[in-house]
Amino acid sequence: MEEDLNPYEIAKQQFYNAASRLNLPEWMPDYLIRPNRETLVEFPIRMDNGRVQRFVGYRMQHNKARGPYKGGIRYSPEVNREEVKALSSWMTWKTALVDVPFGGAKGGVVCNPRELSLIELEHLTKRYTFEIADIIGPDIDIPAPDYGTNQQVMAWMMDAYQMILGGRSARAVVTGKPIDLGGSYGREEATGKGIAIITREVIRQLELNPENLTAIIQGYGNVGSNTAKFLSELGIKIIGVSDAFGAIHNENGLDLLHVNQHISKNKTLKDYPKAEKIEPKEFLLEMATDILVPAALENQITAKNAERTKARIIVEGANGPTTPMADKILLDKGAYIIPDILANAGGVTVSYFEWVQNKREERWEKKRVFQNLEKKMCSAYAAVADSAQINDTDLRTAAYMIAITRVARATQLKGIFP
Ligand code: NAD
Repeated sequence: MEEDLNPYEIAKQQFYNAASRLNLPEWMPDYLIRPNRETLVEFPIRMDNGRVQRFVGYRMQHNKARGPYKGGIRYSPEVNREEVKALSSWMTWKTALVDVPFGGAKGGVVCNPRELSLIELEHLTKRYTFEIADIIGPDIDIPAPDYGTNQQVMAWMMDAYQMILGGRSARAVVTGKPIDLGGSYGREEATGKGIAIITREVIRQLELNPENLTAIIQGYGNVGSNTAKFLSELGIKIIGVSDAFGAIHNENGLDLLHVNQHISKNKTLKDYPKAEKIEPKEFLLEMATDILVPAALENQITAKNAERTKARIIVEGANGPTTPMADKILLDKGAYIIPDILANAGGVTVSYFEWVQNKREERWEKKRVFQNLEKKMCSAYAAVADSAQINDTDLRTAAYMIAITRVARATQLKGIFP
């Protein structure tokens, strides 16, 4: 049977699988899985060569029962309505699971940021911000970086938004900003740091010694590279990493400093000299390792390759990297899968800290940020592990059950307007 790889269909399956175990009012599941508001914008940008190009952008506002909408902005040629919809719903469950006072949203622009000049990227970002300005704001909807976007893009978004307000300060409109513009210490590394905290907790629970473990990481962008750094600080040996252009492997452990130097110079892992080159790069997912961290995109571990993966612990750095059919295969094999809405929640958690700092005009030291992150991640992991045991289910279903219960409770307490 061919597997349906539509991310929103997958998000729905994961949701209903957990929601069906909860005693929700009959109308609620169908309401909770659908976005509150879908926005599609189309706008022209004058390119460096003088020609005008049209772009399409989205902002999906999935749920605001627990607080303002919150979620990243993705720049990629593959961005599409179903993907953004799925990603927005995952944000709702994630913010509820780590208990930050936000809802869920996601946005994106169909473009290839690698093919745009810096000026084109700035113009595109500022125009996209203008197009969605009416529906975002520090107390309405707060974007952040995601795949293909970064601190610089957030700086441009903030600037455009403040310009539209006639110059009034509104730094809390986006998180993941540069430090100089009100960003938080630790935000850039936060998702990788959170993944390492959760991995450490899992290793502890399984009574393993990190010094004896290896890890392979797919995707070496913000999430993947920071995960590699923090896992290796735990003593775990990083034996393989990949990006969109290539995969490298070294059984004795990669020299991460050298890998990072290569990336800063060449922008990709391609042609990295001090490791074996894996071709095609997808084979990296199937190589022997204790820990596998998919940290690139959706649908990487599917019914096609799940059987061949060797990792005992799979930590979902990316959103939606494992399909439901793959999930089943992996669970049958006895793998321990840490679901995305838990594993990569460190990013939105520190985004919340950034938002609080902006609102209070404060600046926290990195140590304080990471201590607070540690508390949030550990208590979320403990709650999920407990719920899995009590409900006799896997960690994904357990995590969804907690998150959906919280969002449902908030919805019910508010009542139906009017
Ligand atoms: P990024 O743009 O910084 O990096 C993405 C990396 O994936 C790049 O190295 C890219 O080359 C690589 N890649 C793309 N296709 C690949 C493929 N087929 N095989 C191997 N590598 C491939 O993006 P990011 O911010 O690191 O986001 C990665 C994932 O993590 C996304 O799913 C995103 O939604 C999720 N996420 C990001 C954050 C965050 O704070 N940035 C937080 C939570 C979740």
